[in-house]
Amino acid sequence: MRVLVLGGGGREHALCWSISRSPLLKHLWCAPGNAGISEIADCIDIPPTNAEQVVDFCRREAVDLLVIGPEAPLASGVSDAARAAGIAVFGPSRAAAMLEVSKAFAKEIALVSGAPTATYAAFDMPGNAKAHLTETGAPVVVKADGLAAGKGVIIAESVQEGLAAIDRIFDGPGGEAVVLEEKLTGEEASFFVLTDGEAVLPLAGAQDHKRAHDGDVGPNTGGMGAYSPAPAFTPQIEREVMDRIVLPVLNEMKVRGMPYSGVLYVGLMLTEDGPKLIEFNARFGDPECQCILPRLETDLLPLLLACAEGRLEGDPLAWKPDTCLTVVMAAQGYPGSYERGDAIGGLEEAAADPAVTIFHAGTKSQDGGVVSDGGRVLSITALGRDVTEARALAYDAASAIRWDSGFYRSDIGWRAI
Ligand code: AMP
Repeated sequence: MRVLVLGGGGREHALCWSISRSPLLKHLWCAPGNAGISEIADCIDIPPTNAEQVVDFCRREAVDLLVIGPEAPLASGVSDAARAAGIAVFGPSRAAAMLEVSKAFAKEIALVSGAPTATYAAFDMPGNAKAHLTETGAPVVVKADGLAAGKGVIIAESVQEGLAAIDRIFDGPGGEAVVLEEKLTGEEASFFVLTDGEAVLPLAGAQDHKRAHDGDVGPNTGGMGAYSPAPAFTPQIEREVMDRIVLPVLNEMKVRGMPYSGVLYVGLMLTEDGPKLIEFNARFGDPECQCILPRLETDLLPLLLACAEGRLEGDPLAWKPDTCLTVVMAAQGYPGSYERGDAIGGLEEAAADPAVTIFHAGTKSQDGGVVSDGGRVLSITALGRDVTEARALAYDAASAIRWDSGFYRSDIGWRAI
């Protein structure tokens, strides 16, 4: 098979790494990719959101499967353009990706499907949102309706803070509308399923760490580390999430004529009253993907193709018995401003243990070496018998990496340990 993956982060490196191990693969491209991906795929200079260029490339190179990693190409309709051109696509249509792209839409679908989630109200005028908040009081979770690159959620402990958050959201990206939500408490977990619009195959649960610093403090990030499976996400919780959230919501999407295919990311709060939906994403999580795919024994490529072609079967997947943990190494300053172009050494020594894989995120090749080229730069991943062993192996590997201006959290997995 000839496969093109869109994206260039740690998630896409993990996807390319899994796909490249398939005996079915003939040629792999990635747009735009990164230094790590370029070792296993041909990296091409096409913007992932440019539907015309992506479709042209797929036609020219007779690509059998287009795999969309990040949300931006889904939101801009690349999957629809490629499908219309007869190309098999792993990733939902733009209409179905609304489950991620609009929080108000996702909440409405959850409500109609009876899926447990925080109570909410959606507003497209700041004045109405503020009046509602003043009446209902704090704490409240204030969310931008649209994609806001992880910066669209504010947990306001006072009415004052909530009012300021509403102003900030209407002034920022994704700020055409705002969702006000009840604040849920509990442990967070995420759950991933594959679907072709009909059949649904549970993948795995994971937990990640969103805050920049040890002890889960500091600014919110795209994710500083993750592990899978997560002991807190028990098989019983998984069944409940499938029955009460995933299946009813996917069925509602079908009924509305916008069947969802691809991978669905279900963000959850494990509350005292059971698991409740926080959000959906229309793609794999990053860094969760990096600690789920290394555990998968089943060949990923035919699964992705089956989702794209509407012939996913219900056969259970084979998994390694191990736990996988990934530690994100980021540039000093991230998630604020940071430098690019710093040399990174020790990558080979760090990955010498066969249990360790280093996925690249923001890196590029320069003068025969690797330099930093983003906020989150490496995703240092290890398989172990349990979280404790996987974590020890990942941190051993991280300590072998020579990059002066890089940092990582030293407590990934603390909840599970
Ligand atoms: P989201 O973009 O919806 O995933 O929200 C980002 C983060 O905000 C989540 O991972 C949670 O930590 C937090 N969050 C979102 N909604 C709620 C809620 N209703 N109650 C408590 N925390 C929330």
